[in-house]
Amino acid sequence: MVQKAEPVKPMNGRQRVLAALRGDPVDRTPVCNPTSVATVELMDLVGAHFPEANRDAEKMFRLAATGYTELGFDTIMPVFSIIQESSALGCNIQWESKDNWPTARMNEPIWAEPDDIKVPADLLTHPDTKCVLDAIAKLKKEYGEDVAIVGKTMGPWTLGYHCFGVEPFLLMSLDDPDKMKRCLERMKEITILFGLAQIEAGADALTLPDHATGDLVSGDYYATFLQEMHTEFVDEIPCPLILHICGRTVDRMDYIAQTGMAAFHFDSKNTPVESVEVVKERISLIGNINNPETLYAKNPDAVRQEVLNNLEAGVPLVGPECAVPLQTPIENLKEITRTVCDWHKEQSVV
Ligand SMILES: [Zn+2]
Repeated sequence: MVQKAEPVKPMNGRQRVLAALRGDPVDRTPVCNPTSVATVELMDLVGAHFPEANRDAEKMFRLAATGYTELGFDTIMPVFSIIQESSALGCNIQWESKDNWPTARMNEPIWAEPDDIKVPADLLTHPDTKCVLDAIAKLKKEYGEDVAIVGKTMGPWTLGYHCFGVEPFLLMSLDDPDKMKRCLERMKEITILFGLAQIEAGADALTLPDHATGDLVSGDYYATFLQEMHTEFVDEIPCPLILHICGRTVDRMDYIAQTGMAAFHFDSKNTPVESVEVVKERISLIGNINNPETLYAKNPDAVRQEVLNNLEAGVPLVGPECAVPLQTPIENLKEITRTVCDWHKEQSVV
């Protein structure tokens, strides 16, 4: 006898996100921001601007909260940048201004050999990592009942770019793959420590960006250097993990789906349909609204169409593909939530 599925009771954002990350039924598709939705408009709205909002817990808290209070997302993500822990490791950071992203000066590498890799005693008390922990704790207290607080800990591949420089790091993978593996192994500790500290501060889930991106390395590279390590993270970091890799990644999604991570946050260079086909239901996908063309430069109608493409393909969580450009109009970001809610209403009427 075919049993009719029980309708899912109304959920709040936190319940919805955590259920979707587990692959459980949800009342509607959650709108999820695993990277950053900070914009200049939102900074002006709450008086919390870059670069201070990347370094001051109170401003980080205020700017992050707008993802929920203004945009209606089901997640709050306070870690806008990808260089907080690299700053604590000793990288020279260019903090930039209100309308520009902070970057690590990768032409000034701090490490060259596996033995150079040291976890500093103040990794978690350095001002640029501590502000993340403090912001998460404050967000958890203020919004943690209603919405999922998502933290971010960078994977060893990205830390390698920052600390060794992109070119020397990628050359090492060709010249001496064993040395490369020793480096990754040592940097793994940093990813775990910062991740655990964020869970302790109150994070419900963590994004783990590891930029083995489609334009720089192949799917085979992912299998050789990262698949096993990403599988270990699942055991070592006890919360749902969202892997983020930019670019065309469909050639490594099968490997990614075997890691046991809760979700993969994928780029619009991969279509929702082909991505769902590869991953099947082994992990959740978070897709994948285009940033530079759609969210930044087009109008809400174009955003709506991309959201619908994801919903119709069965992508379980929806959001921007990566950190949105700082000049992205708020109206386009709000349209993501609006479309998801409208689509589910229409579905329930049918
Ligand atoms: Zn990205």
